[in-house]
Amino acid sequence: MGFRARGLLLDMDGVLYHGSRLLPHARHFLEATAHLPRVFVTNNPIRTPVEVADHLAALGLPRPDPADVLTSGVATARWLARERPGFRFFAVGAEGLHRVLAEHGIEDAENAEFVVVGEGPGLDYDTLSRGIDLIRNGATLVSTNPDASVDAVVAGRHCVLPGGGALVAPFEVATGRRAITIGKPEPLLFEMALARLGLPAGDCVMIGDRPDTDIVGAARVGLRCALVRTGRFLPGTSWPAGEPRPDWDVPELRSLLERWWRDGVLVQA
Ligand SMILES: [Mg+2]
Repeated sequence: MGFRARGLLLDMDGVLYHGSRLLPHARHFLEATAHLPRVFVTNNPIRTPVEVADHLAALGLPRPDPADVLTSGVATARWLARERPGFRFFAVGAEGLHRVLAEHGIEDAENAEFVVVGEGPGLDYDTLSRGIDLIRNGATLVSTNPDASVDAVVAGRHCVLPGGGALVAPFEVATGRRAITIGKPEPLLFEMALARLGLPAGDCVMIGDRPDTDIVGAARVGLRCALVRTGRFLPGTSWPAGEPRPDWDVPELRSLLERWWRDGVLVQA
């Protein structure tokens, strides 16, 4: 008896869309797998789960329940709440990051116990200086996600923006402290997604576009994983040396569906 998927973890950027452009077969894939419970996971902490759900709907995809959307910002907020209920934080990053953290903790630039760095605007000389001072006085440095850079489409042009890893680096250099990292490939985001599904890792598949975060992280927690070459990692690119191989390596989502139907991973409803 071969493997049959019972739940899905879906990365979004580079899998379902690029910025405001829907990727081919995304809608068909979501409809064909609609009978499987799924969690939408992203290292991007800029949008809140409601905003992510709205974005998917605006692209013409089925709108997910925001409770089934797990961003690195939400995972960070939940982890902090578990570590220290009512935590005080100083956040450097997009507005959405401040909002999800404020749902669980208290923003306090004077007495923060955690300096949380995420993607988006927010880092400047003053916020860096403030963060360094807090860390030197005992605050813990937390990074929402380790990506060095992220792809974006700005005014119709593809560009590369600083990722969470690049933005947290100045704090690490200045203080000599290593940040605690929450997002992929660390296990926490995957574990929270599996808890939401209520399924063991061995029953689920992670679908992503990046070997360094999606595939490495999924392999670490025992998830099967599929790489779609519609995002960061393009067809023809050779596999990075030493990285675990995905269970499925496909050009796009339709090929994945065809293989899954053929091999009984997915049973047509
Ligand atoms: Mg992606």
